[in-house]
Amino acid sequence: MISPLLSLFETQGTLPVFSPIDGAEIARAPETDPALMPEVLAQATRAFHAWREVPAPRRGELVRLLGEELRAAKEELGALVTLEVGKITSEGLGEVQEMIDICDFAVGLSRQLYGLTIASERPGHRMAETWLPIGPVGIITAFNFPVAVWAWNAALALVCGNPVIWKPSEKTPLTALATQRIFERALSRFGDAPEGLAQLVIGGPALGAALVASKAVPVISATGSTRMGSVVGPAVMARWGRPILELGGNNAMIVAPSADLDMAVRAIVFGAVGTAGQRCTSLRRLIVHRSLRDDLMARLIKAYASLALGDPRKPGTLIGPLIDQAARARMLAQLDRARTEGGVVHGGVALEGPGAYVTPALVVMPAQTETVREETFAPILYVLTYDDFPDAIALQNDVPQGLSSCIFTLNLREAEAFLSASGSDCGIANVNIGPSGAEIGGAFGGEKETGGGRESGSDAWRGYMRRQTSTVNYSAKLPLAQGVKFDV
Ligand code: NAD
Repeated sequence: MISPLLSLFETQGTLPVFSPIDGAEIARAPETDPALMPEVLAQATRAFHAWREVPAPRRGELVRLLGEELRAAKEELGALVTLEVGKITSEGLGEVQEMIDICDFAVGLSRQLYGLTIASERPGHRMAETWLPIGPVGIITAFNFPVAVWAWNAALALVCGNPVIWKPSEKTPLTALATQRIFERALSRFGDAPEGLAQLVIGGPALGAALVASKAVPVISATGSTRMGSVVGPAVMARWGRPILELGGNNAMIVAPSADLDMAVRAIVFGAVGTAGQRCTSLRRLIVHRSLRDDLMARLIKAYASLALGDPRKPGTLIGPLIDQAARARMLAQLDRARTEGGVVHGGVALEGPGAYVTPALVVMPAQTETVREETFAPILYVLTYDDFPDAIALQNDVPQGLSSCIFTLNLREAEAFLSASGSDCGIANVNIGPSGAEIGGAFGGEKETGGGRESGSDAWRGYMRRQTSTVNYSAKLPLAQGVKFDV
C-alpha cells in the first residue's frame, strides 16, 4: 500500500506516477475525462449559489474541521509528499503544517471579512464598501508544493464563499487525491455543505486550459513557471476573468561587509539546497562584497561538502532528488552554459544509480549573464561580487523575476535602504533571514515575471472576493455628486 490515505482505485488509473526517490512507477492515478469538464463547471456554479448564502463564520467552521483532519493525517500526508516529490521528511511534514496554519488563519478571517464605511459628500447619505463571494476559483498548482498551495488558495476561497476546482500538477496527483480524501472527512463532519464545493480534476495542461477558458470560473489562481503564466494570464484576462499568478523566482541575497557570516552561511545553505533547490523562493544568486568573497566561498565549499544527499526518508538526509531526469538534465546543461561564460563550478555532479540525484553547485560568475538571469529549478547558486552598495541593489533587481530577496547586514542604513522605494523590487524582502520559508501570515507573491499575484496572509483574501461600493440615501432629497445640477 502506497499510503493509508489512498484507496486501490486511486492508484490503478491511467496516469503514471513516479517517485523521484528511485524513479520507479508507484501508481497510476485516475485521470479526469476532459468531456466531463462542463459538468464539473456546472456543479461548481450550483455549489456557489448555495455556499454564498452560508454565513462566513459557518463557512469558517468547515475550514476549522479541515485543519483538524489535516492535523490527524499530518504524518501520512507528509510521508506521501516525500514519496511523490522527494522532499526530506521534515519538509514533507512542514508542507502539511503550512496547510494547517492557513486553515487557522482562514478560520479567524471568516469573522473578519471587513469592509469600509466611507464619508459621503452628500447630506443624508451613507457610503460603504462590502466584500462579497465572487464565484468558483480555479486552482492550478505546481509539483514542488503539491498540497500547500492548494490549501493557501482553498482555505481563503472557501471562507470567502467560493467553491474551488483544483488541477494539481500531473506529476503529483497522489498527494492531491489524498488531500481530497482529508477534505471529505471534514465535509462529512460539517454536514450540510453543497455537493461539488471542492472538486479535483486530474490531468495535464489541457485540463488546466479548460478551467482557464471557462467564464464559470471568475478567478484562476495559477502557480508554476513563468512560461505557463505567460499563456494562462492573458487567456484569463481575455475573457475578463481575474488571474492570480504565482510564477518563477530568481531570488538573491546580498552579503554586506558587516554581515554575521555564521548566520549568513546557514541561511545560504538552507536557501540554496533545501528542497533540492526546487522552491520558488530558493536562493539562486549570492551578491557578495568583494572583501568577503574568498572567506565566504571557503566556508560554503566546506559546508556543501558536509551535506548528506540521498534517500529523503532517511534521518539525516538534507538533500533529496530532483523531481525527474529531465530536471537534472536541465541543471547540468545550465552548468555547462555557465562554464562557457567564465563560471567556475564547484559540485554539480550527477550521482550514478536510480533517481535524479545531483550534488548542489556553487558557481562563481564574472558577471550576471543571461544564464544567471534565468530560473533553473535546481540547486545552482551563482556567486557575484560587488564593490559599492548601490551596485549590489542594481544587480539584485536586474533580473526579469521579482519574488524574494534578502540582505545580511548589521548596518542600519543598508538594511533600511534595501527595504526602501529604491531598494529591492521583490514581493518579499528580508533582513538577516534567507529568501525562502515564508510564514503564512504575510501576503505571498512577487512582481515582474513572478506575476504580481498575492496569496496566503495579510489582505490576500480580497483577491477571492468582489468589492461592492454602495451608497444609501436616507434623506428626502436627491443631490448629485460633484454639485451637478440636473433638475427635471
Ligand atoms: P509548470 O508551469 O510546468 O506547471 C504548473 C502547473 O501548470 C501544472 O499543473 C501544469 O499542468 C499547469 N499548466 C502548464 N501549462 C498550462 C496551460 N497552458 N494551461 C493551464 N495549465 C497549465 O511548473 P512546475 O514545473 O510544476 O513548477 C515549477 C515552477 O513553479 C517554477 O518556475 C517555480 O518557481 C514555480 N512556482 C512558483 C511559486 C510561487 O508561489 N511563485 C510556487 C511554487 C512554484
